[in-house]
Amino acid sequence: MATTPRIAPLVLDRDGYACVYCLADLDTDGVAMTVDHVTPRSWFDRGVATGDADAAANLVACCGHCNSLKRDLDLALFAAYLRAGHGWTAREVRDLKARVNAATARPLPE
Ligand SMILES: [Zn+2]
Repeated sequence: MATTPRIAPLVLDRDGYACVYCLADLDTDGVAMTVDHVTPRSWFDRGVATGDADAAANLVACCGHCNSLKRDLDLALFAAYLRAGHGWTAREVRDLKARVNAATARPLPE
């Protein structure tokens, strides 16, 4: 969460303090509360992605486990990784993409 200190609490609030990837409750003891860049910050740094890496539409609430699994993958690559390497079903991956897209489309709370 260090990269986006100002906006991070609003993103966590918008996403209901639940990891958008695995739905873990981020208020639970032992679950690291982070904010993930859906398109990784490194992609913006390298010029692979353009625009504002820290825009609300690129940030989602995320548990530490998912954040470390996702590394510098974008949503499509992360979904493929979960499907190929972690036994996620096609439906689970489709639902995941829908959750992320719905979360990033919602405005931040006032
Ligand atoms: Zn998670």
